[in-house]
Amino acid sequence: MLREIITIGDPVLRERAREVTAAELHSPRMQALIDDMIETMRAAGGAGLAANQVGELERIAVVEVAGRNERYPYKPPIALTVMVNPVIEEIGEQRFEINEGCLSVPDTRGVVARHVNVRVRYRDRDGVLCSGVRRGLTAGTFQHELDHLDGVLFVDRVTDPATVTTWAQFDRDHRASFEARARALVARVGS
Ligand code: ZN
Repeated sequence: MLREIITIGDPVLRERAREVTAAELHSPRMQALIDDMIETMRAAGGAGLAANQVGELERIAVVEVAGRNERYPYKPPIALTVMVNPVIEEIGEQRFEINEGCLSVPDTRGVVARHVNVRVRYRDRDGVLCSGVRRGLTAGTFQHELDHLDGVLFVDRVTDPATVTTWAQFDRDHRASFEARARALVARVGS
């Protein structure tokens, strides 16, 4: 079922989502929520979605970049990943600047600094423990989604407010140079 995507200003986006117990994860309600989040992310053309964004305060996030994503055509593919109770750990100090947008912050983009390399640990929808290293733009996507579960939006991490644009303005003045830098980063560090 498609869910309404909550937008900035709603307090639910500012709350910390709570951990999901094993018993809850296997419940029909939680499995239906995961299905709804995947469907809603895909319908909106997003690269990820966190439970807060559909008004649920449980630590669940989904990420997927399948083929060419129209919102973010420079993002490398990411297989559908359902994360329950995810934790993220930075590897090294290296950071990069990335221009981000968010389904919950309509028509806004801005530049944030993200860690280049991170390790994510989570349970999948069946409760199986998973762990993996994510790099570059893909690492940025995971950091963005996990921020949501702590009530943090990308606009909080914009260090220079002068980088904030509408999508039309981004397309007009910034997209070409940003995409070139984004593709160079992917070529250098992988995903
Ligand atoms: Zn977002």
